[in-house]
Amino acid sequence: MQENQSVLRISIPSPLRRLFDYLPASNVEFDKLQPGVRLQVPFGNRKTIGLLVAKADSSDFDANKLKQASDVLDETALLPSDILELLTWVARYYHHPPGEVYFSALPTLLRKGNPLPDNSIKRWRLSDQGRALDATALRQAPRQLKLLECLRLFAEGADAEQINQQQVNWRPVMSKLIEKQLVDVIEVSAADLEINTAADKQDIEAQDAEVCKLSDTQLELSDAQNHAVKQIKDKLDQFQAFLLEGVTGSGKTEVYLRVIEAVIRQGRQALVLVPEIGLTPQMVARFRDRFHCAVAVFHSGLNEKQRLSAWLSARDGSASIIIGTRSAVFTPTANLGVIILDEEHDLSFKQQEGFRYSARDVAVKRAHQNNIPIVLGSATPSLECLHNVQTQRFELLTLPERVGGAQHPGIRLLDVRAVKMPEGLSPVLLEMMRQHLKKGNQVLLFLNRRGYAPALLCHDCGWVSHCQRCDANMTIHQRDHRQRCHHCGADKPLVESCPECQSKELHTYGAGTERVEQALMAHFPDKKIIRIDRDTTRRKGAFEALLDQVNSGEGQILIGTQLLAKGHHFPNVTLVGVLNADNELFSSDFRASERMAQLLVQVAGRAGRAEKPGEVLIQTHQPEHPLLQTMIKQGYQQFAKQALDERRMAELPPYTHLALLRAEAVDSQAPEHFLQAARKLSAEYQSSQVTFLGPLPAPMEKRAGRFRMQLLLQSDSRASLHQLLQHWTPRLETLKQARKVRWSLDVDPMEMF
Ligand code: ADP
Ligand code: ZN
Ligand code: ZN
Repeated sequence: MQENQSVLRISIPSPLRRLFDYLPASNVEFDKLQPGVRLQVPFGNRKTIGLLVAKADSSDFDANKLKQASDVLDETALLPSDILELLTWVARYYHHPPGEVYFSALPTLLRKGNPLPDNSIKRWRLSDQGRALDATALRQAPRQLKLLECLRLFAEGADAEQINQQQVNWRPVMSKLIEKQLVDVIEVSAADLEINTAADKQDIEAQDAEVCKLSDTQLELSDAQNHAVKQIKDKLDQFQAFLLEGVTGSGKTEVYLRVIEAVIRQGRQALVLVPEIGLTPQMVARFRDRFHCAVAVFHSGLNEKQRLSAWLSARDGSASIIIGTRSAVFTPTANLGVIILDEEHDLSFKQQEGFRYSARDVAVKRAHQNNIPIVLGSATPSLECLHNVQTQRFELLTLPERVGGAQHPGIRLLDVRAVKMPEGLSPVLLEMMRQHLKKGNQVLLFLNRRGYAPALLCHDCGWVSHCQRCDANMTIHQRDHRQRCHHCGADKPLVESCPECQSKELHTYGAGTERVEQALMAHFPDKKIIRIDRDTTRRKGAFEALLDQVNSGEGQILIGTQLLAKGHHFPNVTLVGVLNADNELFSSDFRASERMAQLLVQVAGRAGRAEKPGEVLIQTHQPEHPLLQTMIKQGYQQFAKQALDERRMAELPPYTHLALLRAEAVDSQAPEHFLQAARKLSAEYQSSQVTFLGPLPAPMEKRAGRFRMQLLLQSDSRASLHQLLQHWTPRLETLKQARKVRWSLDVDPMEMF
């Protein structure tokens, strides 16, 4: 090792679990280089783009063999130091290749080496006031009137180029319109507004009054909302995690908005993370309507340029609110004041492939590093969060009632043992539906299985239509006349006769949403039935169109999968039927009952809003199931308590910590050989505090033509587990058996498949 060298630690997108050391080229001023800039580096026999993570004065490698990093692509750091620090922690915690981690925080255009644009696009849009303005009011100011009329042409706002085509020298005129609150600036460039952390407060407030015209809110908060807002606002200058527990409609979003308002008034930014399914135009509109300031939204509809622009406006501080799903947790900011994470229990916060991380846990870490509060909201908090409340790491804030006094629906279990119901609908449920429909109300049926039927079998010889590449049955899609595998996507025509015995006696077994829909048409010929699942919503805009049909009252019966369970308000639904609660109860995953309880509460939450009390019926073959009983009789909180006790006794998370090493290969032996070698290797580092389980076949052993095995690591001590992983994981890359498999490590796995 040589001392006093100028060494660059560079992250390069590669599957290797380390950074790479380079020397600065002679034309590069080492001292001026900031971590967070991109450099062009030779890698293998090609050139690639790396990100400077740190500077060092020595390398573990022979300095004479180090290559030179040549061109520096950026003058200033792309990623601020807090994000670099966060990513460093993340790469270590998840034991994931750092190159993939750092680069996942950059927009694609920057990953590819495009230059950093120095300006984001600024757009101007009429405010509500501007839109409503009577033209005569601007009689005295024809130029303002002209500009106003020009902006009327652009409902989504216009950029400078668009306005230039209509009017010359319009900028001073625009300032006047902004002053009169007739126009909102919806995206601001860095040059126009610098939220300076060092500037004194007065200055910030003056800027703020201009850019963030916070409309006054008329709603009077409930006592519980007031208390929650106050607790959070008291902690704006320090780290604190809050769990905001309240059913849908209890006013959580209103709490978020008040907290964000306080943060914006301080001249700081708010990061809002929502589940994939929660990022709807309506949800974003609520934020835009409340605050007349720049909101950066990361949604899947953005093209790369727009994404970069939103990213820049977050990074330079010109966007006061940043809204996005999982990956937005890594968005750089100039002056972050709070993180809000809604529906914290939602599985979509966990990335389940590639770089596997929990955006919720990363968000808590980020808040901690930035010394700011984080608010985690849910009607059905995860057991992890509730455990953190019990151990006083998180502070619990509860919103007990629905705003406006709407009643909670009554939930009843419907014992369907020995009841004949080939289409999934019991006679009792059908009768209840008739009663509710007669009163002009809507009915929602929930079934977590799309397609017509989950199995096709031969009555004569017992043949079952099986996916050739997975351990799974083919699902029948009657309308399309196809059979499909929901695990690997295999898709083939429906057969008319048994391929084994040529019998025509092929029977479908069980029911999916498509079959239930068909049955409903026969039972209720005069009602319009709306099916919402992945098959009916694939087309762009289809989902919204179906929701419109529900909300306009055009459709009376809704049948759908979990797409229906979350977030949507159906004020006229008074009966919710859960067609099959048993699927989840029989799952091998230890989190299955937690998920089922969350799902039931979410589904039940669709009913009985406003003045119409709702009813929920759950069809089950397990009416005595203890957790189900607790859920129904005593509510989610009691259920969670009981479930946590079970977890503690079974030594499962959150009382212990898990990591799952998965391996898969076309060769049926290779995964086991790799995992055995891995386990053997661990003996070198093995501490008595980490228990190994496996190699064992994955719950679905064959999927998409690959055989899958796993090795589970469990420990009471997170530190011991990570100490082992830190030494062990890089060594796995070097095992010769590793070359024959695809393997991955999942720290804190959420699903065991
Ligand atoms: P959640 O996010 O928990 O589903 P919201 O904040 O969306 O709840 O509130 C549900 C509805 O009640 C919204 O229409 C909201 O405007 C309204 N609301 C929220 N708080 C109050 C309040 N204090 N007084 C009156 N209406 C409220
Ligand atoms: Zn047959
Ligand atoms: Zn398959």
